[in-house]
Amino acid sequence: MTGNLFDGASEMEELSDLFWAELGRGLIAAAEAHRRLLGDPGDAAALASLQGFCHRLAGDAGSVGQPVLSSLGAACEALLKSSASAPDLARALRVVGGALASLESEQRTRSSPRPEQPRSEAAFSKVGPASEGKGHVLIVEDDPFAVRMMESALHLAGFETTACGDADSALARLEVSRPDLILTDVQLPSTDGFELCRRIRSRPMLDILPIIFVTARADVEERIRGLSVGGNDYLVKPFDPRELVARVSTHLQRISSLREMAIRDGLTHCYNQKYFKLRVAEELARAKRLRRAFSVAILDIDHFKAVNDRFGHLVGDAVLAEMANLVSASVRSIDLVARYGGEEFGLLLTETGVAEAAVLAARVLDRVGRHEFRPWKDGEQPPLGITVSIGIAEGVDALLEADALLERADGALYDAKRNGRNRVVVAP
Ligand code: GH3
Ligand code: MG
Ligand code: MG
Ligand code: MG
Repeated sequence: MTGNLFDGASEMEELSDLFWAELGRGLIAAAEAHRRLLGDPGDAAALASLQGFCHRLAGDAGSVGQPVLSSLGAACEALLKSSASAPDLARALRVVGGALASLESEQRTRSSPRPEQPRSEAAFSKVGPASEGKGHVLIVEDDPFAVRMMESALHLAGFETTACGDADSALARLEVSRPDLILTDVQLPSTDGFELCRRIRSRPMLDILPIIFVTARADVEERIRGLSVGGNDYLVKPFDPRELVARVSTHLQRISSLREMAIRDGLTHCYNQKYFKLRVAEELARAKRLRRAFSVAILDIDHFKAVNDRFGHLVGDAVLAEMANLVSASVRSIDLVARYGGEEFGLLLTETGVAEAAVLAARVLDRVGRHEFRPWKDGEQPPLGITVSIGIAEGVDALLEADALLERADGALYDAKRNGRNRVVVAP
């Protein structure tokens, strides 16, 4: 990870500008709420609005190198929250009023307020720069400054982002597209981040999607609540952009290794049968659409049972692993090698007609035949010679299903066995 994410660069200046502009807008609403509360201390909406402003100040200011403002926001928020009686509130309002006045004068010297951006869903949702393949992060956050800061950090680190200002629009977006990770604020308008997480987890396809809560409150109760509704991690505002990127990266890496585990065979590290069939079906659909030929091959080790019988299962396993490496090294990088069954391998040969596939298979056959297998722990025993049989079928027939195509290759393999093994047979 780059050490200078946001360090002194124009990104930081831009963020700082944005912070003061947002603060200017927030101050107008906060001052109005403060005025209303002075007139009517029972005005709950005004109290919530003022608390919300202080909460956001606490969360945002630290991220632009203003820790004092962040503490001021946190202190004002705590003071307003703990004002149980009318005299308490009056005192809190005096303190907060003073804070607002000094913030206003500071803000005036920093920036002239910018025109209010329309807060429509279309304007608020923003897709980041072209993906570098590192993953797509959905940001659910109602504070535009916080959104900008997270987007900037994630874009710099090569992630794609989409932003939603509330839980409902995030849920609607999840209906149509699938991010790799969700970063969600806890305090959101109407539905909060915890409820959003609970609803996401109730959808079967989204139960392993990593969810990170971003919040200004860092107490134990809140963390436990976040975890109990299915969250994976916590990020406390104000946070260093590098920590955000580090947490996002580590969750995405974990998820991608889980995905890898789900599609790979443990012994040979080839793809597993399930994934192979899925890819064959995909390739078939593509072949139908684009009228492009491709071929599948099934390779079966000859007399493998004898290897097990003579040397034991562990040696048999070592031969399988060595065979997987050898076959993978003998095909092109565009081809896919899978463990199709016990001692059978499936090959998906993209953009390859059956004649070319036969040449490729003959090359594999030759390399295996010449290879000296050494599945022994010590090098004492002489190397083992092993042969394979290969059946091939071409996937151009527009009516063929994946299973039917693989059956054809299997039929050709059966013919290769019957005709003496150590050979390639192409399905008619
Ligand atoms: P053929 O030439 O007709 O293919 O003969 P074969 O002995 O290879 O075929 P058969 O189907 O009779 O036996 C396959 C053997 O592969 C039997 C099984 O014990 C072995 N086998 C399957 N999976 C594994 C595995 O994961 N590890 C080991 N060591 N052996 C395996
Ligand atoms: Mg919020
Ligand atoms: Mg077999
Ligand atoms: Mg066999």
